[in-house]
Amino acid sequence: MYDVVIIGAGVTGAAIASELAKYDIKTCILEKCSDVCEGTSKANSAIIHAGYDAAEGSLKAKLNVRGNEMMDKLCEDLDIPFKRIGSLVVCIYKEALPGLKELYDRGIKNGVKGLKLLSREEALTMEPNLSDDTQGALFAPSAGIICPFELNIGMAEIAAMNGAEFKLNTEVKDIKKDNDGKFRIITSNGEYTARYVVNAAGVYADVIHNMVSTQKMHITQRRGDYCLLDKQAGGYVNHVIFPQPTELGKGVLISPTVHGNLIVGPTAIETEDKEGTGTTAEGIGELTQKAGSHVKNIPMNKVITSFAGLRAHEDGNDFIIGEAEDVPGFIDCAGIESPGLSSCPAIGEMVCVILDKLMNLKKKENVITKRKAVRRTEGLSTEEMNLLIKENPAYGNVICRCESITEGEILDAIHRPLGATTLDGIKRRTRAGMGRCQAGFCMPRTMEILSRELGIKYEDITKSGGSSNIVLERTKEEA
Ligand SMILES: Cc1cc2nc3c(=O)[nH]c(=O)nc-3n(C[C@H](O)[C@H](O)[C@H](O)COP(=O)(O)OP(=O)(O)OC[C@H]3O[C@@H](n4cnc5c(N)ncnc54)[C@H](O)[C@@H]3O)c2cc1C
Repeated sequence: MYDVVIIGAGVTGAAIASELAKYDIKTCILEKCSDVCEGTSKANSAIIHAGYDAAEGSLKAKLNVRGNEMMDKLCEDLDIPFKRIGSLVVCIYKEALPGLKELYDRGIKNGVKGLKLLSREEALTMEPNLSDDTQGALFAPSAGIICPFELNIGMAEIAAMNGAEFKLNTEVKDIKKDNDGKFRIITSNGEYTARYVVNAAGVYADVIHNMVSTQKMHITQRRGDYCLLDKQAGGYVNHVIFPQPTELGKGVLISPTVHGNLIVGPTAIETEDKEGTGTTAEGIGELTQKAGSHVKNIPMNKVITSFAGLRAHEDGNDFIIGEAEDVPGFIDCAGIESPGLSSCPAIGEMVCVILDKLMNLKKKENVITKRKAVRRTEGLSTEEMNLLIKENPAYGNVICRCESITEGEILDAIHRPLGATTLDGIKRRTRAGMGRCQAGFCMPRTMEILSRELGIKYEDITKSGGSSNIVLERTKEEA
Protein backbone atom coordinates (compact mmCIF):
# COMPACT_ATOMS: atom_id res chain seq x y z
CA MET A 1 0.00 0.00 0.00
CA TYR A 2 1.53 3.29 -1.13
CA ASP A 3 0.46 6.87 -0.58
CA VAL A 4 1.44 7.81 -4.14
CA VAL A 5 2.17 5.67 -7.17
CA ILE A 6 3.82 7.43 -10.11
CA ILE A 7 3.52 5.73 -13.50
CA GLY A 8 6.58 6.38 -15.67
CA ALA A 9 10.24 7.06 -14.83
CA GLY A 10 11.13 9.60 -17.52
CA VAL A 11 12.14 13.13 -16.53
CA THR A 12 8.56 13.96 -15.52
CA GLY A 13 8.12 10.94 -13.22
CA ALA A 14 11.66 11.28 -11.84
CA ALA A 15 11.26 15.02 -11.12
CA ILE A 16 7.97 14.38 -9.30
CA ALA A 17 9.49 11.44 -7.39
CA SER A 18 12.52 13.46 -6.31
CA GLU A 19 10.26 16.25 -4.99
CA LEU A 20 7.79 13.88 -3.29
CA ALA A 21 10.57 11.86 -1.68
CA LYS A 22 11.29 14.91 0.52
CA TYR A 23 7.97 14.28 2.30
CA ASP A 24 6.97 11.71 4.86
CA ILE A 25 4.95 9.49 2.53
CA LYS A 26 5.41 6.14 0.79
CA THR A 27 6.06 6.69 -2.91
CA CYS A 28 6.49 4.10 -5.61
CA ILE A 29 7.39 4.53 -9.28
CA LEU A 30 6.19 1.90 -11.76
CA GLU A 31 8.19 1.72 -14.99
CA LYS A 32 7.59 -0.75 -17.80
CA CYS A 33 11.17 -0.64 -19.08
CA SER A 34 14.27 -2.13 -17.49
CA ASP A 35 15.74 1.27 -16.59
CA VAL A 36 14.74 4.86 -16.00
CA CYS A 37 15.08 7.21 -19.02
CA GLU A 38 13.95 4.72 -21.66
CA GLY A 39 11.13 6.82 -23.16
CA THR A 40 11.14 10.24 -24.83
CA SER A 41 13.49 11.55 -22.16
CA LYS A 42 16.35 9.64 -23.79
CA ALA A 43 15.80 11.01 -27.32
CA ASN A 44 15.37 14.77 -27.62
CA SER A 45 17.36 17.91 -28.43
CA ALA A 46 18.64 18.28 -24.84
CA ILE A 47 17.98 22.01 -24.83
CA ILE A 48 16.89 23.92 -21.76
CA HIS A 49 14.72 26.39 -23.61
CA ALA A 50 14.51 30.05 -22.62
CA GLY A 51 10.69 30.10 -22.81
CA TYR A 52 9.76 32.61 -25.56
CA ASP A 53 8.10 30.03 -27.80
CA ALA A 54 5.03 28.86 -25.85
CA ALA A 55 1.79 30.85 -25.89
CA GLU A 56 1.46 33.52 -23.23
CA GLY A 57 -0.39 32.24 -20.16
CA SER A 58 0.04 28.56 -21.10
CA LEU A 59 1.38 26.00 -18.65
CA LYS A 60 4.19 25.35 -21.15
CA ALA A 61 5.29 29.00 -20.93
CA LYS A 62 5.00 29.24 -17.14
CA LEU A 63 6.72 25.95 -16.34
CA ASN A 64 9.43 26.41 -18.99
CA VAL A 65 10.53 29.76 -17.56
CA ARG A 66 10.38 28.45 -13.97
CA GLY A 67 12.18 25.20 -14.90
CA ASN A 68 14.90 27.14 -16.70
CA GLU A 69 15.45 29.28 -13.57
CA MET A 70 15.73 26.15 -11.39
CA MET A 71 18.23 24.38 -13.63
CA ASP A 72 21.58 25.78 -12.33
CA LYS A 73 20.93 24.76 -8.73
CA LEU A 74 19.39 21.42 -9.70
CA CYS A 75 22.36 20.47 -11.92
CA GLU A 76 24.80 21.53 -9.22
CA ASP A 77 22.97 19.36 -6.67
CA LEU A 78 22.89 16.41 -9.09
CA ASP A 79 26.54 16.98 -10.10
CA ILE A 80 25.68 16.98 -13.82
CA PRO A 81 26.79 19.26 -16.67
CA PHE A 82 24.65 22.21 -17.76
CA LYS A 83 25.89 25.01 -20.01
CA ARG A 84 23.98 28.24 -20.60
CA ILE A 85 25.31 28.78 -24.11
CA GLY A 86 22.32 30.83 -25.30
CA SER A 87 20.19 30.35 -28.40
CA LEU A 88 19.61 32.21 -31.67
CA VAL A 89 16.41 32.06 -33.70
CA VAL A 90 17.62 32.91 -37.18
CA CYS A 91 15.49 34.67 -39.79
CA ILE A 92 16.52 34.10 -43.41
CA TYR A 93 13.68 35.98 -45.18
CA LYS A 94 13.31 39.76 -44.91
CA GLU A 95 9.51 39.48 -44.92
CA ALA A 96 9.69 37.12 -41.90
CA LEU A 97 11.53 39.63 -39.67
CA PRO A 98 8.28 40.77 -37.93
CA GLY A 99 7.98 37.12 -36.77
CA LEU A 100 11.19 37.53 -34.75
CA LYS A 101 9.75 40.63 -33.07
CA GLU A 102 6.58 38.66 -32.24
CA LEU A 103 8.71 35.97 -30.58
CA TYR A 104 10.62 38.66 -28.68
CA ASP A 105 7.38 40.26 -27.43
CA ARG A 106 5.99 36.88 -26.41
CA GLY A 107 9.20 36.08 -24.58
CA ILE A 108 9.01 39.36 -22.63
CA LYS A 109 5.40 38.58 -21.67
CA ASN A 110 6.42 35.06 -20.62
CA GLY A 111 9.08 36.54 -18.32
CA VAL A 112 12.19 35.50 -20.29
CA LYS A 113 15.20 37.59 -19.28
CA GLY A 114 17.94 39.05 -21.50
CA LEU A 115 16.23 38.65 -24.91
CA LYS A 116 17.77 40.73 -27.68
CA LEU A 117 16.95 41.26 -31.36
CA LEU A 118 20.15 41.11 -33.42
CA SER A 119 20.95 42.64 -36.80
CA ARG A 120 22.33 40.46 -39.60
CA GLU A 121 25.87 41.69 -38.79
CA GLU A 122 25.55 41.03 -35.05
CA ALA A 123 24.22 37.53 -35.68
CA LEU A 124 27.00 36.68 -38.16
CA THR A 125 29.66 37.98 -35.77
CA MET A 126 28.37 35.64 -33.07
CA GLU A 127 27.94 32.71 -35.48
CA PRO A 128 30.10 32.94 -38.64
CA ASN A 129 28.61 29.73 -40.10
CA LEU A 130 25.07 31.11 -40.32
CA SER A 131 23.52 31.19 -43.79
CA ASP A 132 24.49 34.05 -46.13
CA ASP A 133 20.73 34.76 -46.29
CA THR A 134 20.62 35.65 -42.57
CA GLN A 135 18.51 38.79 -42.03
CA GLY A 136 18.54 38.96 -38.23
CA ALA A 137 18.14 36.80 -35.13
CA LEU A 138 16.57 36.63 -31.68
CA PHE A 139 19.20 35.99 -29.00
CA ALA A 140 18.13 34.29 -25.75
CA PRO A 141 21.11 34.09 -23.36
CA SER A 142 19.23 31.98 -20.79
CA ALA A 143 18.89 28.94 -23.10
CA GLY A 144 21.22 26.08 -22.28
CA ILE A 145 22.28 22.53 -23.05
CA ILE A 146 22.15 19.54 -20.74
CA CYS A 147 22.58 15.77 -20.74
CA PRO A 148 19.00 14.44 -20.53
CA PHE A 149 20.15 10.98 -19.38
CA GLU A 150 22.13 12.38 -16.48
CA LEU A 151 19.27 14.70 -15.50
CA ASN A 152 16.75 11.84 -15.51
CA ILE A 153 19.06 9.37 -13.75
CA GLY A 154 20.25 11.96 -11.22
CA MET A 155 16.71 12.93 -10.15
CA ALA A 156 15.72 9.25 -9.94
CA GLU A 157 18.76 8.43 -7.81
CA ILE A 158 17.98 11.26 -5.38
CA ALA A 159 14.39 9.98 -5.11
CA ALA A 160 15.63 6.42 -4.47
CA MET A 161 18.19 7.63 -1.90
CA ASN A 162 15.32 9.35 -0.05
CA GLY A 163 13.26 6.17 0.04
CA ALA A 164 11.12 6.22 -3.12
CA GLU A 165 10.75 2.68 -4.45
CA PHE A 166 11.37 2.06 -8.16
CA LYS A 167 9.72 -1.02 -9.67
CA LEU A 168 11.30 -1.52 -13.08
CA ASN A 169 10.07 -4.02 -15.70
CA THR A 170 6.60 -3.33 -14.31
CA GLU A 171 3.99 -2.38 -16.90
CA VAL A 172 0.66 -0.95 -15.76
CA LYS A 173 -2.09 -2.95 -17.48
CA ASP A 174 -5.18 -1.58 -15.76
CA ILE A 175 -6.28 0.69 -12.91
CA LYS A 176 -9.41 0.28 -10.80
CA LYS A 177 -10.80 2.69 -8.24
CA ASP A 178 -12.33 0.78 -5.33
CA ASN A 179 -15.33 1.93 -3.29
CA ASP A 180 -13.02 2.99 -0.44
CA GLY A 181 -11.42 5.53 -2.84
CA LYS A 182 -8.14 3.65 -3.19
CA PHE A 183 -6.61 2.75 -6.54
CA ARG A 184 -5.73 -0.81 -7.46
CA ILE A 185 -3.02 -0.82 -10.11
CA ILE A 186 -2.75 -4.06 -12.02
CA THR A 187 0.69 -4.60 -13.55
CA SER A 188 2.75 -7.21 -15.36
CA ASN A 189 4.44 -7.70 -12.00
CA GLY A 190 1.59 -7.97 -9.48
CA GLU A 191 -0.95 -5.57 -8.02
CA TYR A 192 -0.22 -2.28 -6.20
CA THR A 193 -2.56 -0.19 -4.07
CA ALA A 194 -2.30 3.58 -3.70
CA ARG A 195 -4.25 6.53 -2.33
CA TYR A 196 -3.11 8.75 -5.21
CA VAL A 197 -1.87 8.00 -8.71
CA VAL A 198 0.29 10.28 -10.88
CA ASN A 199 0.20 9.58 -14.60
CA ALA A 200 3.61 10.46 -16.09
CA ALA A 201 3.57 7.86 -18.86
CA GLY A 202 4.75 10.04 -21.77
CA VAL A 203 3.21 8.99 -25.09
CA TYR A 204 1.14 6.42 -23.15
CA ALA A 205 -0.39 9.05 -20.82
CA ASP A 206 -3.64 8.86 -22.82
CA VAL A 207 -3.80 5.06 -22.46
CA ILE A 208 -3.25 5.32 -18.68
CA HIS A 209 -5.74 8.22 -18.32
CA ASN A 210 -8.38 6.35 -20.34
CA MET A 211 -8.10 3.35 -17.98
CA VAL A 212 -9.84 5.36 -15.23
CA SER A 213 -11.55 8.37 -16.78
CA THR A 214 -14.65 8.55 -18.94
CA GLN A 215 -13.40 11.88 -20.40
CA LYS A 216 -11.16 10.42 -23.06
CA MET A 217 -7.77 11.85 -23.92
CA HIS A 218 -5.85 11.51 -27.18
CA ILE A 219 -2.12 11.87 -27.71
CA THR A 220 -0.53 12.01 -31.14
CA GLN A 221 3.07 10.89 -31.49
CA ARG A 222 5.22 13.32 -33.46
CA ARG A 223 8.49 11.69 -34.36
CA GLY A 224 11.68 13.72 -34.43
CA ASP A 225 14.69 12.28 -36.27
CA TYR A 226 18.23 13.38 -35.36
CA CYS A 227 21.81 13.05 -36.49
CA LEU A 228 24.60 13.18 -33.94
CA LEU A 229 27.95 14.33 -35.28
CA ASP A 230 31.45 13.48 -34.12
CA LYS A 231 33.24 15.70 -31.59
CA GLN A 232 35.40 17.00 -34.46
CA ALA A 233 32.27 18.94 -35.55
CA GLY A 234 31.28 19.98 -32.00
CA GLY A 235 32.50 23.57 -32.41
CA TYR A 236 30.75 24.23 -35.72
CA VAL A 237 28.31 26.53 -33.90
CA ASN A 238 28.61 28.08 -30.44
CA HIS A 239 24.93 28.54 -29.62
CA VAL A 240 21.73 26.60 -30.17
CA ILE A 241 20.63 27.68 -33.66
CA PHE A 242 16.90 27.53 -34.44
CA PRO A 243 14.96 28.48 -37.54
CA GLN A 244 11.74 30.43 -36.96
CA PRO A 245 9.11 28.16 -35.36
CA THR A 246 6.08 26.78 -37.21
CA GLU A 247 2.83 25.15 -36.07
CA LEU A 248 4.64 21.81 -35.88
CA GLY A 249 7.31 22.99 -33.48
CA LYS A 250 10.60 24.79 -33.15
CA GLY A 251 12.04 23.36 -36.37
CA VAL A 252 15.39 21.73 -37.15
CA LEU A 253 18.09 23.04 -34.81
CA ILE A 254 21.86 22.77 -34.79
CA SER A 255 23.57 22.75 -31.43
CA PRO A 256 26.69 21.68 -29.61
CA THR A 257 25.99 19.04 -26.93
CA VAL A 258 27.30 19.25 -23.36
CA HIS A 259 29.74 16.46 -24.19
CA GLY A 260 31.18 18.25 -27.24
CA ASN A 261 29.31 16.65 -30.17
CA LEU A 262 27.05 18.48 -32.63
CA ILE A 263 23.35 17.57 -32.84
CA VAL A 264 21.16 18.27 -35.88
CA GLY A 265 17.38 17.73 -35.82
CA PRO A 266 14.53 17.04 -35.22
CA THR A 267 11.97 16.43 -37.95
CA ALA A 268 8.25 16.41 -37.04
CA ILE A 269 6.48 13.38 -38.52
CA GLU A 270 3.13 12.24 -37.09
CA THR A 271 2.77 8.52 -36.38
CA GLU A 272 0.14 6.36 -34.69
CA ASP A 273 2.88 3.99 -33.47
CA LYS A 274 3.78 4.67 -29.83
CA GLU A 275 6.98 2.65 -30.23
CA GLY A 276 7.87 4.03 -33.68
CA THR A 277 11.32 5.44 -32.98
CA GLY A 278 13.06 4.11 -36.08
CA THR A 279 14.69 6.76 -38.26
CA THR A 280 14.08 6.82 -42.03
CA ALA A 281 16.19 7.91 -44.99
CA GLU A 282 13.48 10.49 -45.86
CA GLY A 283 13.55 11.90 -42.33
CA ILE A 284 17.34 12.24 -42.30
CA GLY A 285 17.26 13.76 -45.80
CA GLU A 286 14.65 16.28 -44.66
CA LEU A 287 16.57 17.37 -41.59
CA THR A 288 19.82 17.71 -43.54
CA GLN A 289 18.14 19.93 -46.08
CA LYS A 290 16.28 22.04 -43.48
CA ALA A 291 19.33 22.51 -41.22
CA GLY A 292 21.34 23.63 -44.24
CA SER A 293 18.97 26.50 -44.91
CA HIS A 294 20.07 28.53 -41.87
CA VAL A 295 23.58 27.15 -41.17
CA LYS A 296 25.84 26.61 -44.18
CA ASN A 297 28.03 23.62 -45.04
CA ILE A 298 27.20 21.52 -41.95
CA PRO A 299 29.78 18.70 -41.98
CA MET A 300 27.22 15.89 -42.35
CA ASN A 301 30.04 13.49 -43.28
CA LYS A 302 30.83 13.48 -39.54
CA VAL A 303 27.55 11.79 -38.49
CA ILE A 304 28.24 8.97 -36.02
CA THR A 305 24.66 7.92 -35.30
CA SER A 306 21.02 8.76 -35.90
CA PHE A 307 18.05 8.30 -33.58
CA ALA A 308 14.46 9.45 -33.12
CA GLY A 309 12.21 10.50 -30.24
CA LEU A 310 8.42 10.79 -29.99
CA ARG A 311 6.71 14.00 -28.88
CA ALA A 312 3.56 13.36 -26.83
CA HIS A 313 1.33 15.93 -28.51
CA GLU A 314 -2.08 16.43 -26.86
CA ASP A 315 -4.88 17.93 -28.96
CA GLY A 316 -5.15 21.04 -26.72
CA ASN A 317 -1.47 21.90 -27.43
CA ASP A 318 -0.57 22.49 -23.77
CA PHE A 319 0.65 20.41 -20.84
CA ILE A 320 -2.25 18.83 -18.93
CA ILE A 321 -1.28 18.79 -15.27
CA GLY A 322 -3.90 18.29 -12.58
CA GLU A 323 -6.50 16.04 -11.03
CA ALA A 324 -8.70 14.34 -13.64
CA GLU A 325 -12.15 15.96 -13.37
CA ASP A 326 -14.07 12.70 -12.92
CA VAL A 327 -11.42 10.76 -10.94
CA PRO A 328 -10.48 12.40 -7.63
CA GLY A 329 -6.93 11.48 -6.58
CA PHE A 330 -5.76 10.71 -10.13
CA ILE A 331 -3.26 13.33 -11.30
CA ASP A 332 -2.43 13.61 -14.99
CA CYS A 333 0.88 14.90 -16.35
CA ALA A 334 0.02 14.48 -20.00
CA GLY A 335 0.95 16.15 -23.27
CA ILE A 336 4.44 16.68 -21.88
CA GLU A 337 6.10 17.41 -25.20
CA SER A 338 8.74 20.11 -25.61
CA PRO A 339 9.58 22.05 -23.42
CA GLY A 340 9.06 19.11 -21.04
CA LEU A 341 12.75 18.57 -20.34
CA SER A 342 13.23 22.26 -19.49
CA SER A 343 10.07 22.29 -17.38
CA CYS A 344 10.50 19.03 -15.46
CA PRO A 345 11.69 20.46 -12.10
CA ALA A 346 8.81 22.95 -12.21
CA ILE A 347 6.38 20.12 -13.02
CA GLY A 348 7.72 18.25 -9.98
CA GLU A 349 7.12 21.33 -7.85
CA MET A 350 3.59 21.85 -9.25
CA VAL A 351 2.51 18.23 -8.69
CA CYS A 352 3.75 18.47 -5.09
CA VAL A 353 1.58 21.56 -4.55
CA ILE A 354 -1.43 19.67 -5.96
CA LEU A 355 -0.77 16.64 -3.73
CA ASP A 356 -0.11 18.85 -0.71
CA LYS A 357 -3.63 20.30 -1.05
CA LEU A 358 -5.05 16.78 -1.22
CA MET A 359 -3.02 15.02 1.46
CA ASN A 360 -1.29 17.73 3.54
CA LEU A 361 2.33 16.69 2.99
CA LYS A 362 4.80 16.80 5.90
CA LYS A 363 8.54 17.31 5.28
CA LYS A 364 10.87 14.45 6.28
CA GLU A 365 13.89 15.04 8.47
CA ASN A 366 17.38 14.52 6.99
CA VAL A 367 16.44 14.71 3.33
CA ILE A 368 19.30 14.06 0.88
CA THR A 369 19.44 16.93 -1.61
CA LYS A 370 22.76 16.27 -3.37
CA ARG A 371 24.35 13.27 -5.04
CA LYS A 372 27.65 12.58 -6.73
CA ALA A 373 27.53 11.50 -10.37
CA VAL A 374 29.67 8.62 -11.67
CA ARG A 375 33.27 9.66 -11.03
CA ARG A 376 34.77 10.85 -14.34
CA THR A 377 38.37 10.43 -15.43
CA GLU A 378 37.92 12.85 -18.36
CA GLY A 379 39.98 16.00 -17.84
CA LEU A 380 42.15 14.58 -15.01
CA SER A 381 45.86 15.39 -15.13
CA THR A 382 48.42 12.54 -15.31
CA GLU A 383 49.18 13.04 -11.60
CA GLU A 384 45.49 12.91 -10.65
CA MET A 385 45.00 9.85 -12.84
CA ASN A 386 48.00 8.09 -11.27
CA LEU A 387 46.66 8.76 -7.78
CA LEU A 388 43.23 7.44 -8.73
CA ILE A 389 44.69 4.28 -10.29
CA LYS A 390 46.77 3.70 -7.16
CA GLU A 391 43.59 3.96 -5.08
CA ASN A 392 41.64 1.72 -7.48
CA PRO A 393 43.45 -0.03 -10.37
CA ALA A 394 40.15 -0.41 -12.28
CA TYR A 395 40.58 3.27 -13.28
CA GLY A 396 43.70 2.23 -15.20
CA ASN A 397 41.76 -0.15 -17.45
CA VAL A 398 40.31 1.78 -20.41
CA ILE A 399 37.22 0.01 -21.75
CA CYS A 400 35.74 2.55 -24.20
CA ARG A 401 38.57 3.96 -26.29
CA CYS A 402 36.49 6.58 -28.14
CA GLU A 403 35.29 8.29 -24.96
CA SER A 404 38.16 7.12 -22.69
CA ILE A 405 35.89 5.41 -20.17
CA THR A 406 37.54 3.14 -17.64
CA GLU A 407 36.44 -0.01 -15.85
CA GLY A 408 36.32 2.04 -12.64
CA GLU A 409 33.61 4.28 -14.11
CA ILE A 410 31.59 1.29 -15.32
CA LEU A 411 31.79 -0.37 -11.89
CA ASP A 412 30.60 2.88 -10.31
CA ALA A 413 27.63 2.95 -12.74
CA ILE A 414 26.65 -0.62 -11.81
CA HIS A 415 27.06 -0.35 -8.03
CA ARG A 416 25.03 2.75 -7.18
CA PRO A 417 21.37 3.39 -6.33
CA LEU A 418 19.34 2.32 -9.40
CA GLY A 419 22.58 1.03 -10.93
CA ALA A 420 22.96 0.01 -14.57
CA THR A 421 21.96 -3.53 -15.53
CA THR A 422 22.05 -3.24 -19.34
CA LEU A 423 24.46 -1.99 -21.99
CA ASP A 424 22.38 1.14 -22.57
CA GLY A 425 22.25 1.67 -18.81
CA ILE A 426 26.07 1.71 -18.74
CA LYS A 427 26.17 3.94 -21.83
CA ARG A 428 23.83 6.57 -20.39
CA ARG A 429 25.59 6.66 -17.03
CA THR A 430 29.20 6.66 -18.28
CA ARG A 431 29.21 7.38 -22.07
CA ALA A 432 30.92 4.03 -22.78
CA GLY A 433 29.73 3.25 -26.32
CA MET A 434 28.67 6.83 -27.13
CA GLY A 435 31.68 7.66 -29.25
CA ARG A 436 32.72 7.33 -32.84
CA CYS A 437 32.68 3.51 -33.00
CA GLN A 438 29.27 3.36 -31.23
CA ALA A 439 30.35 0.46 -28.96
CA GLY A 440 31.83 -1.66 -31.76
CA PHE A 441 35.00 -2.07 -29.74
CA CYS A 442 33.88 -1.87 -26.10
CA MET A 443 30.62 -3.82 -26.14
CA PRO A 444 32.12 -7.29 -25.50
CA ARG A 445 34.32 -5.89 -22.75
CA THR A 446 31.38 -4.08 -21.10
CA MET A 447 29.39 -7.33 -21.34
CA GLU A 448 32.19 -9.15 -19.54
CA ILE A 449 32.01 -6.65 -16.67
CA LEU A 450 28.19 -6.76 -16.49
CA SER A 451 28.24 -10.58 -16.49
CA ARG A 452 30.87 -10.74 -13.74
CA GLU A 453 29.40 -8.00 -11.52
CA LEU A 454 25.73 -8.99 -11.77
CA GLY A 455 26.40 -12.73 -11.82
CA ILE A 456 24.41 -13.22 -15.03
CA LYS A 457 25.15 -15.26 -18.13
CA TYR A 458 26.40 -13.60 -21.32
CA GLU A 459 23.24 -14.77 -23.08
CA ASP A 460 21.10 -12.88 -20.53
CA ILE A 461 22.75 -9.51 -21.08
CA THR A 462 20.53 -7.12 -23.00
CA LYS A 463 21.00 -3.82 -24.76
CA SER A 464 17.96 -2.31 -23.06
CA GLY A 465 15.91 -5.05 -21.38
CA GLY A 466 13.15 -7.21 -22.84
CA SER A 467 14.30 -9.32 -25.75
CA SER A 468 17.20 -7.08 -26.78
CA ASN A 469 19.75 -9.83 -26.01
CA ILE A 470 23.09 -9.45 -27.74
CA VAL A 471 24.17 -13.08 -27.98
CA LEU A 472 21.76 -15.99 -28.41
CA GLU A 473 23.87 -18.98 -27.35
CA ARG A 474 27.41 -20.26 -27.00
CA THR A 475 28.78 -21.79 -30.17
CA LYS A 476 31.88 -23.14 -28.40
CA GLU A 477 31.92 -24.53 -24.86
CA GLU A 478 34.99 -23.98 -22.72
CA ALA A 479 36.95 -27.19 -22.25
C1 LIG B 1 12.13 15.17 -30.89
C2 LIG B 1 12.01 15.76 -29.51
C3 LIG B 1 12.78 16.86 -29.13
C4 LIG B 1 12.64 17.41 -27.88
N1 LIG B 1 13.50 18.40 -27.47
C5 LIG B 1 13.33 18.96 -26.27
C6 LIG B 1 14.23 19.96 -25.82
O1 LIG B 1 15.23 20.26 -26.45
N2 LIG B 1 13.97 20.58 -24.65
C7 LIG B 1 12.88 20.27 -23.90
O2 LIG B 1 12.65 20.92 -22.91
N3 LIG B 1 12.05 19.25 -24.25
C8 LIG B 1 12.28 18.58 -25.40
N4 LIG B 1 11.48 17.56 -25.78
C9 LIG B 1 10.44 17.12 -24.87
C10 LIG B 1 10.97 16.23 -23.77
O3 LIG B 1 11.88 15.27 -24.28
C11 LIG B 1 9.78 15.53 -23.12
O4 LIG B 1 8.87 16.52 -22.73
C12 LIG B 1 10.15 14.72 -21.90
O5 LIG B 1 11.25 13.89 -22.14
C13 LIG B 1 8.95 13.89 -21.49
O6 LIG B 1 9.29 13.15 -20.37
P1 LIG B 1 8.23 12.18 -19.72
O7 LIG B 1 8.84 11.68 -18.48
O8 LIG B 1 6.93 12.89 -19.62
O9 LIG B 1 8.04 11.02 -20.79
P2 LIG B 1 8.97 9.75 -21.07
O10 LIG B 1 10.39 10.09 -21.00
O11 LIG B 1 8.47 9.14 -22.33
O12 LIG B 1 8.66 8.80 -19.86
C14 LIG B 1 7.44 8.09 -19.75
C15 LIG B 1 7.75 6.76 -19.12
O13 LIG B 1 6.52 6.06 -18.87
C16 LIG B 1 6.76 4.69 -19.08
N5 LIG B 1 5.48 4.03 -19.31
C17 LIG B 1 4.63 4.21 -20.33
N6 LIG B 1 3.56 3.41 -20.20
C18 LIG B 1 3.74 2.71 -19.07
C19 LIG B 1 2.98 1.70 -18.41
N7 LIG B 1 1.82 1.23 -18.91
N8 LIG B 1 3.46 1.19 -17.27
C20 LIG B 1 4.64 1.62 -16.74
N9 LIG B 1 5.39 2.56 -17.34
C21 LIG B 1 4.96 3.10 -18.48
C22 LIG B 1 7.66 4.67 -20.30
O14 LIG B 1 8.36 3.46 -20.44
C23 LIG B 1 8.57 5.85 -20.04
O15 LIG B 1 9.76 5.49 -19.40
C24 LIG B 1 11.65 16.92 -27.00
C25 LIG B 1 10.90 15.81 -27.37
C26 LIG B 1 11.11 15.21 -28.60
C27 LIG B 1 10.37 13.97 -28.96
